[in-house]
Amino acid sequence: MTTSPRRYHITTFGCQMNKADSERMAGILESLDYQQSDNPETADLVLYNTCTIRDNAEQKVYSYLGRQAKRKQTNPNLTLIVAGCVAQQEGEALLRRVPELDMVMGPQHANRLGDLLEQVLAGNQVVATEPVHIMEDITKPRRDSQVTAWVNVIYGCNERCTYCVVPNVRGTEQSRTPEAIRAEMEDLARQGYKEVTLLGQNIDAYGRDLPGTTPEGRHKHTLTDLLYYVHDVPGIDRIRFATSHPRYFTERLIRACQELPKVCEHFHIPFQSGDNQVLKAMSRGYTHEKYRRIIETIRKYMPDAAISADAIVGFPGETEEQFQNTLKLVADIGFDQLNTAAYSPRPGTPAAEWDNQLSEEVKSDRLQRLNHLVAQKAADRSQRYFDRVEEVLVEDRNPKNPRQVMGRTRGNRLTFFEGEIDRLKGQTVPVKITEVRAFSLTGTALSLVESR
Ligand code: SAM
Ligand code: SF4
Repeated sequence: MTTSPRRYHITTFGCQMNKADSERMAGILESLDYQQSDNPETADLVLYNTCTIRDNAEQKVYSYLGRQAKRKQTNPNLTLIVAGCVAQQEGEALLRRVPELDMVMGPQHANRLGDLLEQVLAGNQVVATEPVHIMEDITKPRRDSQVTAWVNVIYGCNERCTYCVVPNVRGTEQSRTPEAIRAEMEDLARQGYKEVTLLGQNIDAYGRDLPGTTPEGRHKHTLTDLLYYVHDVPGIDRIRFATSHPRYFTERLIRACQELPKVCEHFHIPFQSGDNQVLKAMSRGYTHEKYRRIIETIRKYMPDAAISADAIVGFPGETEEQFQNTLKLVADIGFDQLNTAAYSPRPGTPAAEWDNQLSEEVKSDRLQRLNHLVAQKAADRSQRYFDRVEEVLVEDRNPKNPRQVMGRTRGNRLTFFEGEIDRLKGQTVPVKITEVRAFSLTGTALSLVESR
């Protein structure tokens, strides 16, 4: 008699780091003979990989969980797991709130899913949130794309931005060795991947926790050294990295990006606020003048580089005048893309305790005004692509138009053009840009189109 394989469904919230963790967990489940299912309502194992960066992401998880908890009452064979940052933040409390849960596991435990699952299948309710040394993983992730891949280079964050929950839930910095990173990239190349994005919450901290110093007295392993070390992996055509921190960003890194042809001309450097007093209250460790100098230096070496960032409006105590300084920074710099957010007080962070919180009305009004400006500026800036030939790495079919394929330029612009995916997937194609289109106001992702 054959039994049908167990099916799993993973829902991922939040950042690229969570998406990369989900891919690793999916790889582990498939190595245990689970099969992916698109439908959480019929899957045998349902895993929510959660985000707690803002309250609305967290609340969404509870509403999804409620439905699954009901299902579990009539289907005891269902395995129900909460992973990621809400799991880390809530720990045992989550089991009390949703007793139907089989497992609560923090992000540092993603690579241990197989072992933890064994304990669940033996009938235990598992909570895995203690800090651990993250092990190198030998299971292959199940990647969503066949062309581009994320590669973690540093886990955790040692910064203490006063609004941010990440250090509480992702722990202290742990860098992977350059050898392990290179080996993963070589393996990706063998599987046909063409582009790698190196990931870290504060990627400029890469290597600080690894041993060794140079004769000049700096850390032996830095992000810049890593780029030189992995640059010649045969078969990988493009390298990106995120997220950069203005406090630690160096001119040496910019020069490396200019010198190394596979490193794409795209920098994601959150500034959070354009006002020095707000930056200080956030404990960001730089001024808006320093941020502007970084962008000037990038543009000196690479005038056409795409610049994206994150910003928060309505931080506790932010005055209208201070918010105007954020608008001014955005107007002066002209970002290609900006992820904007209204400040959301997070449990266990200093700013959440302050008594100078702003009302939801003020925050949402500022968010709207900032988004409006960003949309205008990004649209203006996009015009530079018009009529130009851009190198596009083709990733997939356009889900909305099967006659078109889609890919990204070196500056990370989503681009659509007519073509056959079977012939073009994974190829880098020169594309003449004939139309520049905005398809979203918040975040203002803009697409480039060639209509051949
Ligand atoms: N490590 C990155 C950095 O230093 O900017 C970003 C990490 S965080 C996952 C992504 C973004 O979420 C941040 O850049 C910030 O803009 C936003 N964010 C973090 N905490 C927030 C909060 N409490 N309220 C609103 N937005 C927040
Ligand atoms: Fe959060 Fe600051 Fe660390 Fe970024 S650098 S993850 S914003 S604490």
